[in-house]
Amino acid sequence: MPIARPAVLAVLTLVAGCARPSAAPALQPVPYDTPPPASDSSAAVATRSAPLSSAAARPAPPPVLLKVGRLIDGVAAAPKDNQAILVVEGRIRGIGLAAALEKDAPSGTKVIDLGGATALPGLIDAHTHVLLQGDITAADYDAQLLKESIAYRAIRATVAAQTALMNGFTAIRDLETEGAMYADVDVKLAIERGVIPGPRMFVSTRAFAPTGMYPLNGYSWELKMPEGVQIADGPDALRKAVREQVKYGADWIKFYADRRYYLPPERGCKHLLCSWVNFTDEEAKAIVDEAHRLGKRVAAHAIGWDGIDAALRAGADTIEHGDGLDDGLIDRMVQKKVYWCPTIYVGVYVAEGRGGVWPKMVELEREAFKKAMKKGLLIAYGTDAGGYAWTENQAKELGIMVRYGMSPMAAIQSATVVAAQLLDQRHDLGSIEPGRLADIVAVAGDPLKDISELERVTFVMKGGVVYKNEKKEK
Ligand SMILES: [Zn+2]
Repeated sequence: MPIARPAVLAVLTLVAGCARPSAAPALQPVPYDTPPPASDSSAAVATRSAPLSSAAARPAPPPVLLKVGRLIDGVAAAPKDNQAILVVEGRIRGIGLAAALEKDAPSGTKVIDLGGATALPGLIDAHTHVLLQGDITAADYDAQLLKESIAYRAIRATVAAQTALMNGFTAIRDLETEGAMYADVDVKLAIERGVIPGPRMFVSTRAFAPTGMYPLNGYSWELKMPEGVQIADGPDALRKAVREQVKYGADWIKFYADRRYYLPPERGCKHLLCSWVNFTDEEAKAIVDEAHRLGKRVAAHAIGWDGIDAALRAGADTIEHGDGLDDGLIDRMVQKKVYWCPTIYVGVYVAEGRGGVWPKMVELEREAFKKAMKKGLLIAYGTDAGGYAWTENQAKELGIMVRYGMSPMAAIQSATVVAAQLLDQRHDLGSIEPGRLADIVAVAGDPLKDISELERVTFVMKGGVVYKNEKKEK
């Protein structure tokens, strides 16, 4: 979440970057170069991703019968008590009373009894930056791009990925590498191949902004500085650049729709929050159209009214941040089924350090959140972790959502079933139901009574493999 260098204009000029299953032969790991779905026209295509799998090279994990005191499955309105989950070859085979499931359990099934713990689907964070380590100020951001090699940043990213998994996040959509090129694809591959532990990653590689509209800026023109995004101008160049990102492994395409956020009445602003739009309509539409043609969806960083309006006109699938959402924009998003990733915590975290318009943006987003809930906008959990240090638990956003009026169950669903829907992965992720991948986490207490329980995840299973279990085995 880089911020721009101080600009000469009186306008507030902060730029938020963001800152297997069954006995069938194990499926091949889904490579990042999986061909897009066949399409008989150049229109936007359905973008169902290929099924996820455990890496084929590794043997299937042993079957597990997981006993828990309470189960929040992601879809039911209420939890169920004293449940067991039978996991076979990385997928959920059955849910119910332990005695009944034991009869179906294959020989060699390991029983893990979590006592009174609450199990829930693995959490999903739909907006992260594993290659960023916090950037409250422009100097923080620039230092990472100028003083750390991509190799060093990738090493740090492997730690961030592991942190996410241990915090209970079994899947993340990582929304651009902030100058680290395609290193997110490498981190994703290392996780898929079992080289390092980490969540399932859906990556967007480099993101787009036009010339001069994203850090690094403000250095001598004699110096060739690194860029925080892929710079491209003009519809044709942007189409080519989208193709290039997809070629090298992008699951998603991201573009920065706006920058320089300012309040009314400055510069004639007539909305809650205004912004400068980065791309022309022709350019933004070219990004979205080309991504959709290739079977990829598009995330738009958009904070002010103008940027959100431009992103929606271009056909973006998700709005990131969205602090300046008003009734009209929310209605358009609801109508178009566009998701909102509010990333509230990062705003709170950086507001003080950044000053200027940022504290006001936190207030505006709180009001937008209340309106969005009333109007039934699809709110997918996204934190912008990496925009703040990975030492902060990315589950803290859940507490803020509840404080802003969301029920604990709805907040959990935002980080499970809704986020899985955003990822187009409901066939595999987001709920504890038979057939889904066994991505399951647990906490000692009841998160419906105290949502902060989710900041203390005690058990993490991904694809049937246990990565964390703080409960002592008897
Ligand atoms: Zn971000």
